[in-house]
Amino acid sequence: MTTTNAPAATDVLVVGSGPTGLALACDLARRGIAVRVVEQRPAPHRESRGKGLQPEAMELLDGLGAGDRIRAVGRTGIVLRKYFDGEHIGDTPSGAGILVGQWQVEEALRERLAELGVRVQHGAALASVDQGASGLRAELSDGTGLHAAYLAGCDGGRSTTRRLLGIPLEGSTAEEEAMVLGDVRAPGLSREFWHQWFTTEGGGILLCPMPGTDSFQLQAAPEKDGEGRTLPPSLESFQRLFDRYARVPGIRLADPTWMSSWRVNSRVAARMRRGRAFLAGDAAHVHPIAGGLGMNTGIQDATALARTLAAALAEPAAAEVLDAYEAERLPAARAVVTDTTRRYERVVQAVRTPGRGTEAGMN
Ligand SMILES: Cc1cc2nc3c(=O)[nH]c(=O)nc-3n(C[C@H](O)[C@H](O)[C@H](O)COP(=O)(O)OP(=O)(O)OC[C@H]3O[C@@H](n4cnc5c(N)ncnc54)[C@H](O)[C@@H]3O)c2cc1C
Repeated sequence: MTTTNAPAATDVLVVGSGPTGLALACDLARRGIAVRVVEQRPAPHRESRGKGLQPEAMELLDGLGAGDRIRAVGRTGIVLRKYFDGEHIGDTPSGAGILVGQWQVEEALRERLAELGVRVQHGAALASVDQGASGLRAELSDGTGLHAAYLAGCDGGRSTTRRLLGIPLEGSTAEEEAMVLGDVRAPGLSREFWHQWFTTEGGGILLCPMPGTDSFQLQAAPEKDGEGRTLPPSLESFQRLFDRYARVPGIRLADPTWMSSWRVNSRVAARMRRGRAFLAGDAAHVHPIAGGLGMNTGIQDATALARTLAAALAEPAAAEVLDAYEAERLPAARAVVTDTTRRYERVVQAVRTPGRGTEAGMN
């Protein structure tokens, strides 16, 4: 007899429906592998977050059948407009990537996944995992039990899967927030440019027009209180930062739909697998955003993990095939953390020079 709480069997349980989890689920589903995706958020978000896709990731997304949807909403060739102490200094072309909000990448992948017959289960948070010789049992926070042959933890930087597996995230975290972030409207500000204002005093603010919306992604050095503590993001704080660094009278920021703060992490999981459970994307590596490689690296992890899981499901007796994923992706994760840490240092240095900006981290 089945009840609503009866365990459900699947080949792969994917935890988290960010870009990594969705790319993995698409890759598994298109290979005919039974996949289930659980996501703790009650509904999809609309946060710009990771906003750039590089050609390597686009090639993988094309292979999954999601590339054209992303091209249809994204934008190429945005010009970086640089200002220093309020003066327009010059313009710089951007690289070969596509500018697109992370929520739009996720939407494209969710649509593709639905075409492949899989729907994300929202409001479903992984709470525990028990591994056996031939499979594992996961439990959601509402007590529902799920049986799967393999589990993929694609549940982001604060990964529950990583904690449940007891895998340390090794490296360093800066003591203070480096940036406040958000999605806001800025009526009257040109949407032709990614505006980047820097100053002699050292702070700055960036406003990037997000395609398919009327909002900009805002990134700024955070405000501090009288004792040097970072103030949390708010619309009032965003406006004060804009007035201080951009110095464009008459622009009133409005309608924030996402506000967050960010600190520099340079960390890699000690392992990307324990038994039948794997880590991918931010769950396995967190690093500076310079160069915009986080989502791209997660998508590369996802396709590598799909290859490994497909091989393991095809040959259940060949336990060694499970090692292929970590052997390929752990060195890649370590390299991307080292690379993005250097890119970030270059950007921090570059913005002290009038006319320079985030392009210093692009290669
Ligand atoms: C301002 C900014 C700019 C960036 N720019 C870029 C860029 O240009 N290019 C780029 O490639 N990257 C960029 N990044 C990084 C990028 O956002 C991340 O690397 C990316 O989100 C990682 O994707 P993910 O799927 O691994 O994790 P996430 O996007 O964090 O997704 C994890 C998902 O798991 C869910 N989850 C968590 N816990 C559980 C649980 N217990 N059970 C079920 N679900 C759970 C979460 O709700 C979430 O939906 C940027 C980030 C920021 C903040």
